[in-house]
Amino acid sequence: MTNPLLQDWQTPFGLAPFDRISDEDFAPALEAALTAHNAEIEAIAQNPDEADFGNTIEALEAAGGALDKVLGVFFTVAGADSTPAREELQRDFSPKLAAHFSEISANKALFARVAEVWDRRDSLALSDEQARVLMLTHRGFVRSGAALEGAEEVRMKQIKGRLAVLGTQFTQNLLADERSWFMELAEDDLAGLPDFVVDAARAAGEEKGASGPVVTLSRSLIVPFLQFSPRRDLREKAFRAWEARGAGGGETDNRAIAAEILSLREERAKLLGYENFAAYKLETEMAKTPEAVRGLLMEVWEPARAQANADAEVLTSMMHADGVNGDLAPWDWRYYAEKRRAAEHDLDEAALKPYFQLDRMIDAAFDCATRLFGLEFAPLDVPLYHPDCRAWEVTRKGEHIAVFIGDYFARGSKRSGAWCSAMRAQAKFPKVQSPVVINVCNFAKSDPALLSYDDARTLFHEFGHALHQMLSDVTYESVSGTSVARDFVELPSQLYEHWLEVPEVLGKFATHARTGAPMPREMLDKVLAAATFDMGFQTVEYLASALVDLAFHDGAAPADPMARQADVLAGIGMPEAIRMRHATPQFAHVFSGDGYSSGYYSYMWSEVMDADAFEAFGEAGGAFEPGIAAALEQHILSTGGSRDAAELYVAFRGRLPGVEALLRGRGLIAA
Ligand SMILES: [Zn+2]
Repeated sequence: MTNPLLQDWQTPFGLAPFDRISDEDFAPALEAALTAHNAEIEAIAQNPDEADFGNTIEALEAAGGALDKVLGVFFTVAGADSTPAREELQRDFSPKLAAHFSEISANKALFARVAEVWDRRDSLALSDEQARVLMLTHRGFVRSGAALEGAEEVRMKQIKGRLAVLGTQFTQNLLADERSWFMELAEDDLAGLPDFVVDAARAAGEEKGASGPVVTLSRSLIVPFLQFSPRRDLREKAFRAWEARGAGGGETDNRAIAAEILSLREERAKLLGYENFAAYKLETEMAKTPEAVRGLLMEVWEPARAQANADAEVLTSMMHADGVNGDLAPWDWRYYAEKRRAAEHDLDEAALKPYFQLDRMIDAAFDCATRLFGLEFAPLDVPLYHPDCRAWEVTRKGEHIAVFIGDYFARGSKRSGAWCSAMRAQAKFPKVQSPVVINVCNFAKSDPALLSYDDARTLFHEFGHALHQMLSDVTYESVSGTSVARDFVELPSQLYEHWLEVPEVLGKFATHARTGAPMPREMLDKVLAAATFDMGFQTVEYLASALVDLAFHDGAAPADPMARQADVLAGIGMPEAIRMRHATPQFAHVFSGDGYSSGYYSYMWSEVMDADAFEAFGEAGGAFEPGIAAALEQHILSTGGSRDAAELYVAFRGRLPGVEALLRGRGLIAA
């Protein structure tokens, strides 16, 4: 066999031999891996022996090893170093993989054996982790409809197919509306806009084939335009177009699509035996019930709304002082908030930047992990997929723990954003495998490489996810590392961001690129104070979206989602000058697919936990308190999804999280 993707990798730590893999290897390797996986699945489903944990559940865990290897490499390069050839492969692979996995979950003979093991679970003397893996496997089959028969099974298939079509249509309509609208700006209209906005407007104009600069509905252009343009008439025009996306009538209108999606989701949940879609969706989350979600959101809502209303008064008087009478409008908020920010927090980004050197920030993230968990990092010279990538061996007391890869710089071949993925996840079954974890970011390349404060937070955030993978210590890969509930997965990452704010960390690692001097304390204080600016607005626009998302899925599906949205907003007393962060016709998180439907709350759920969890360190005496670090590793970072998320949190903290730490962190109650 000559395909390097299908061979045993005789490399340091079994790393993928990137220097020997070429694009032509992927398609045949995927075919071979799918065939192998199908054969493994058939052998499990057709096994003549009585079904037990070993020959069914463990056998499923062990199956698909070749597929994991091929996809671990492919998705790494497809996301971080794409080429037209790799994009074409991805277009080809996505439907194949979707069909492959849905065929497995619809395999009746296989499900019958899983159900047999499940029915006998109490007599099997399983370990806690085994019982959990059995429960998750069985539940996964049931939730995908494997237990349905006859007409119900047919209907489930129709619903899934229709939902996939509607989700794609929703996304495409939104994109079409975003792309078709732009507003030309005369040279006079550019007054007051900073250079970066003018440059972006000119670039957008060229892209649209306009004769001069334009404002488009891309968030990265319209938001700074609303922030900086003193022209109220232009702000209003742009804002109204932004708000009309997906709601303009005609072919690209998303409102009827949203209604149909909600009704199909309700039908699907009922077919599976749930009261409504939210009950179905939240079953697998830490929150578990719509009541728990609403309770948490409303606890934050009142202080956030009070702060937003107080801020609205300040902004209104600034507007009146500007000679504009009447009420503050949604297209005024960002403009006056920016003026206020400039007056109250004159943070000089240019003076700040030399203190955040990429290499020093990597050292800082590593050093915190050394102090908290005893991890050591040694540079590793191995072939990787791009010259910008760097690798380290991670050890503890001389013992190999993981390989960590950092791919930090932006380039055209990388998709935007930042992410953490495991090219190989930790597991002990069917054999011991140590994790290979990668952090991908999009920092501007310069010499020396300098970060903004937000970039540095991103670096810590992704490294928090990496620790969750690297410190994982479970038996089965399906519950390893970040394989946890969606509303729990951001806890380790958001928690790790807090160490960047620890003064002794910045004191040691935020040193000036040229002079080597540590960042002055006064500058640090300014950075931290600016972080909570306009939090009333940000919290309100987010919470309104989360509450509407929940209302859509908790109970009977609304025939008119826009009317339901209006009811919810009236019910919570939405401030006049603030709109939902994502109104229904634009709410891609909720309508493009299932990912965040009745799950938009989970960003805040995680933030409540990370704020509360970090306070445990302060309460015990300091940010590096060894007892708390040990408990964090024992109960949260090493356990993956091997136990219920709420149980894990209570084991760490002695109780469930409260919202007070978040409210303090966002500056919504006094510290
Ligand atoms: Zn994250």
